[in-house]
Amino acid sequence: MKPLKERLMTPGPTPVPERVLQAMASHTMYHRSPKFKEIFAETIERLKRLFKTERDTLILTSSGTGAMEAAVSNLFSPGDSAVVIVGGKFGQRWKELCETFGVNPVVIELEWGKSVNPEDVKKKIEENRNIKGVLVQICETSTGAFNDVKALGEITARYDNVILVADGITAFGVYDIPVDDWNIDVAITGSQKALMTPPGLAVISLSEKAKSRLSRKKWAYYFDLSKEIKNQAKGQTAYTPAVNLIVGLNEALKMIEEEGLENVAKRHEILAKSARAGIKALELELLPEHPANGVTAVKLPEHIDGQKFVSWIRDRLGIVIAGGQEHLKGKIFRLSHMGYIDIFDLLTQLEAVEFALTRMEMYPAYGKAVAAAMETYIELVHQSPIKYRGER
Ligand SMILES: *Cc1c(COP(=O)(O)O)cnc(C)c1O
Repeated sequence: MKPLKERLMTPGPTPVPERVLQAMASHTMYHRSPKFKEIFAETIERLKRLFKTERDTLILTSSGTGAMEAAVSNLFSPGDSAVVIVGGKFGQRWKELCETFGVNPVVIELEWGKSVNPEDVKKKIEENRNIKGVLVQICETSTGAFNDVKALGEITARYDNVILVADGITAFGVYDIPVDDWNIDVAITGSQKALMTPPGLAVISLSEKAKSRLSRKKWAYYFDLSKEIKNQAKGQTAYTPAVNLIVGLNEALKMIEEEGLENVAKRHEILAKSARAGIKALELELLPEHPANGVTAVKLPEHIDGQKFVSWIRDRLGIVIAGGQEHLKGKIFRLSHMGYIDIFDLLTQLEAVEFALTRMEMYPAYGKAVAAAMETYIELVHQSPIKYRGER
């Protein structure tokens, strides 16, 4: 059996809407031209509305990790300490970045799938006067766990010399997160997850508290945020940006605005709840304690080889879902319902899982998860209808 087509259903990169693809399929503009400056400034304004922020918001030409590196290298000095929440692959990345730039990581190690207890963060800050920041993922994509950044912001706001740095790469565009109100000093996202654009752009916003650190000596050249702030205020970038990707991102953000951020967040919430209902109907267990709304990580029974499971679904069915990373490799699979995704994309993933489970002779599972997900979906949509673009 060879699939007719391939469907990208990973938690990044995610499917790109036709409108975004078409917007990008034009000749590359000169990045110093008035026309591009206008598009660039418009994109920044849309990002600020997405973040609900009045603060400096910068676009970097890099994958999401570039913005993480920029935050650590620009806002901390060698010898500083930072509380780092490590509950998965991306938390580990914060720790490695700290080590790379001489920042001492004060790690709160979580079992993968668990979320941080904000009280533990407060304790660490109280214990160590040298702590200059808290580094966290809003959604730890490798485990699907959600961290309560609002509670963390309430804590860090009380300390003049502690900034909250939140990696929201799979949270912005999934949730409606007001960056300024929640005291997120540094908010980060990337183009290829919920923002429905191909990989290659990162976004970072900075509070005054964070910006006050920029005058210090820093180990950054390409990712020098002071330089970017000066340039981007004039609709420019320090170096040649990924022009076509920015045109695409502008179109994707336009789509989010047409749907309405509130509706976008509601759609993600309903899809996440439907996904969990489907998984429960298969008597499988979720990995995270507090699951996020963009990705659903599911434990596989021990006797099933998760790597084979995921590759069988890809090679035989043409549906590309993600497996686990590091020690979760072969033990979990991850469904993605973030970005340009609707209920039918989710049902497709669930049916693929049922198909594979049936084939691996666990039990005949056809339709079980799909029926349960659909039931939840209909019930939730009935309670509170999902409104699409332009609908009132
Ligand atoms: C995808 C992702 C990143 C960034 O990864 P890149 O490959 O550098 O784009 C960082 N953090 C989280 C939580 C992510 O999901």
